[in-house]
Amino acid sequence: VQMELCDLHDIIRELSPLLWADANLRGQSIEVKLDEAVPRLMLNPKEIKQLILNLGRNGMEAMPEKGQLVLETRCVADGVALYVRDTGPGIPPAQQERLFEPFFTTKAQGTGLGLSLCLSIMERHSGKISVQSEEGKGTTFTVFFPFNEHLQ
Ligand code: ADP
Ligand code: MG
Repeated sequence: VQMELCDLHDIIRELSPLLWADANLRGQSIEVKLDEAVPRLMLNPKEIKQLILNLGRNGMEAMPEKGQLVLETRCVADGVALYVRDTGPGIPPAQQERLFEPFFTTKAQGTGLGLSLCLSIMERHSGKISVQSEEGKGTTFTVFFPFNEHLQ
């Protein structure tokens, strides 16, 4: 994989018009909260774009009208966290375990490949991806980029 030193926030800013267009069509809103302390990271920008689009679109597809999608970055102890949060219906615990399996989908027209691709992308970045979800409240996907692997 081709990795280069990238500004994660530039990637998010580049995707914003696409995400906003989707959200507008659905009557949803997007909030972006960027932690200015986030440093540049060794990334494959094409893959990370794909990952953010997949997570953003899943969030929007899960929400009713007036739903709110939040993209947030935060410097944490040993790396950078990216949160993609939605105000959708949440995911039952039994399904949460299967989300990252290839071809797992609950959508009539779904491929079930989005999250399995996100998992492979984060494995290639020596990072992590996880889900936190509460039924009736919403879902947060957390993507973690560790410092050590990337800044050596
Ligand atoms: P697809 O979107 O084609 O169904 P994904 O791999 O992107 O495939 O997602 C797999 C499944 O995970 C979805 O079908 C859906 O059931 C569930 N899912 C993913 N993201 C969310 C979310 N933000 N809220 C609720 N369910 C979700
Ligand atoms: Mg998807």
